[in-house]
Amino acid sequence: MPERELAPYAARPQHSRGRRYREAPPRGRSEYQRDRDRIVHSTAFRRLEYKTQVFVNHEGDLFRTRLTHSLEVAQIARSVARSLHLDEDLTEAIALAHDLGHTPFGHTGQDALNDCMRPYGGFEHNLQSLRVVDLLEQRYAAFDGLNLTYEAREGILKHCSVRNARALGDVGERFIKRRRPSLEAQLANLADEIAYNNHDVDDGLRSGLLNLDQLAEVRIVARHLKAVLKDHPRLAGRRLVHETVRRMIDTLVTDLVRASARNIRSHAPDSIEAVRRAPPLIAFSPRVHEESLALKRFLRDNLYRHYRVVRMSAKARRVVVDLFGALASDIRLLPPEFQARAHDSAPRAIADYIAGMTDRYAILEHRRLFSIEET
Ligand code: MG
Repeated sequence: MPERELAPYAARPQHSRGRRYREAPPRGRSEYQRDRDRIVHSTAFRRLEYKTQVFVNHEGDLFRTRLTHSLEVAQIARSVARSLHLDEDLTEAIALAHDLGHTPFGHTGQDALNDCMRPYGGFEHNLQSLRVVDLLEQRYAAFDGLNLTYEAREGILKHCSVRNARALGDVGERFIKRRRPSLEAQLANLADEIAYNNHDVDDGLRSGLLNLDQLAEVRIVARHLKAVLKDHPRLAGRRLVHETVRRMIDTLVTDLVRASARNIRSHAPDSIEAVRRAPPLIAFSPRVHEESLALKRFLRDNLYRHYRVVRMSAKARRVVVDLFGALASDIRLLPPEFQARAHDSAPRAIADYIAGMTDRYAILEHRRLFSIEET
C-alpha cells in the first residue's frame, strides 16, 4: 500500500525495528513484502499443504489443509487491513506464517508432542512457528532462518509464557511488559478465528459429521440461514451451505472493521508505539463476539469431539508418541542433519524433526520405524 494511504497507527516498513542480521534494503518491494515473499518460498510453507487442519490429509481431497486455511486467513486479514489503512503486506506475511510451526495431525499432534516434551521445556506450535522462521529454515548463505523483520516475528509469536519470553529477547519483551503487538498482528489473529470457525462449519457439513438442523441451534448460523431461505426459498444442499457461510464471513468481517475502527477512534493511537501501549483495539462488537464464541463452543462439542474425529485423533496421537519414543531411545535413528542438532538438546532436535513432518510423512516414518517389511 502506498505510504500516504497508511494510517498513523499502521506499521511502516521504512520504520521497521529491523532484522536480526543486517541486510541491504530490498529493491522494488517493501521490507514487509520481502518477509511475505520469503515465507511463501520456505519449505515449511509448502509442507502446510499436507498438514491437518481438522481432517487428516487422506480423509478427503476437499477438506481444508493448513495451507488452504492459511490462504483464507491471509485473504480475510488483507481485506480488513485495507479497510483500516493498515499495512496489508505485513498482515499477509503474519497470516501466511502463523501456522508454520504446526505439527502433523493438527491439535492432537501438538498436544501429543507437548506431552512428550514436558520434561524438556514443552512444545508449543506458536513458539515453533517463530523457531521455523528464526532458525530451522536453511535457505540463506549468511544466516539461519528467514531473517524476518521484528514486526513479522512479533506478529507470529501470538502467545508465550513469561519463562519462554525471557529467553527470546526483544520479541519476547511484550509478554513481560504486558504490551500489545501491532494492529496488523492483532488483526491476523482474529482473521484466523473467522477463517477456521467458518471453514470448519463447511468441512463439518461436507464430512457428514454435522448437519444443518444441528447448526440451526447456533444463533449466527440460524439468522443467516433464515435470511438466505427468505431470499431463496428453494435453495438446498451445498449452495445453501455456501451462501450461508459466505454471509457469515461477511458479517464477521464487516463487524470487525466497524468495531475496530470505533476502538481506534476512541484511543486515537498516533503511532505503532502507542498501539503497543493501548489495550487490544482490533475486536468484534460485544454482540458478534458472543455469537462467534457460541459457534466456537458448538464446533468444539459437536465436531472436534465427534467420535469419528476422536478416533482419528487417538491414532494420530499414537503415531506421534511412538515416533518420539523410538527416536529418543536411539538418537542414531534420526536423519544426520537432525543428529547434528541433537548435540544441543536431543529431545528438541526430535521435536523439530517431528513437528516438521506432514501427516503422510509421519505415517510413513512410523511404518519405517515399526514395520520390519519397510526400509
Ligand atoms: Mg490458524
